[in-house]
Amino acid sequence: MMIADVDNDSIVYLNGEYRRLGDARISVLDRGFIFGDGIYDVVPAYSGRPFRMDGHLARLERSLAAIRIQVDMARQDWEALVLDLIRRSGLGDCMVYIQVTRGVARRDHAFPSSGVTPTVFCMVSPFERPDAHCREQGVRAVSIPDLRWLHCEIKSVSLLGNVLAKQAAVDAGVDEVLQFRDDMLTEGSSCNIWVVRDGRLLAPPRSNLILEGIRYSLIEELASQTGIDFQARPISRAEVASADEIMLTSATREILPITELDGKPVGTGRPGPVYQVLRAAYDETIARHEQA
Ligand code: PLP
Repeated sequence: MMIADVDNDSIVYLNGEYRRLGDARISVLDRGFIFGDGIYDVVPAYSGRPFRMDGHLARLERSLAAIRIQVDMARQDWEALVLDLIRRSGLGDCMVYIQVTRGVARRDHAFPSSGVTPTVFCMVSPFERPDAHCREQGVRAVSIPDLRWLHCEIKSVSLLGNVLAKQAAVDAGVDEVLQFRDDMLTEGSSCNIWVVRDGRLLAPPRSNLILEGIRYSLIEELASQTGIDFQARPISRAEVASADEIMLTSATREILPITELDGKPVGTGRPGPVYQVLRAAYDETIARHEQA
């Protein structure tokens, strides 16, 4: 089967075998397809070297444990799989997508009793780092209510809430959304959100209301290294609306400034000084990682 806009010849891993993406098949009774009963993670690699792989694999294991899927894969097996797929792809900067579902069973909401093997799928795609325009001009966002469930800390493939959130951004002609639950900031559709007020960097605390990005700890480290005061605490809609700077982080978008929110400029409407410092520190971290 030919799928548009992807490399159908790229090599993917499915349940112990390597195949062409265009030839990989799963059952229509896979619980990932039927119920969204599965989890995933996305490991970025620069110059063929996975970045913060430990963090990503630890999160993958936490997500599996949270929904009680047991896979016969130790940490070294995941590492070997990620490295092997990158090597086979021949790509330098790339994204390794890993998905595990509860497997194939007769359709019944309850977990299958036993003997069902989880489906393990892994693919690699090229990663284009954010372009100069986004980095230097910033991106635009709109505020929306967070209508998702209360286990956002699990990196679940049940992403309908995030899909609808991202489409709200597209429909509004902007790049991203800021989600609010009870008037408090949670996160973007597929990124964490950071706010600067009076020179201090703020982020919603780690909780079940957000997915803790692997960049969450990284930004904490970079803030500490560069002398930026950081506090994780609940952030109100009013504080976001009057923020000096807002930024987003994710594996694919790294760190980007949000320079317009709900049609109004954020601060001066230009990427701010805290962003510039963190951006430079992020780039240095990646450069060191590529050379290590
Ligand atoms: N929050 C959500 C809902 C996400 O989907 C993502 C990434 O896909 C993030 C935050 C950022 O996580 P990471 O920094 O690990 O990419």
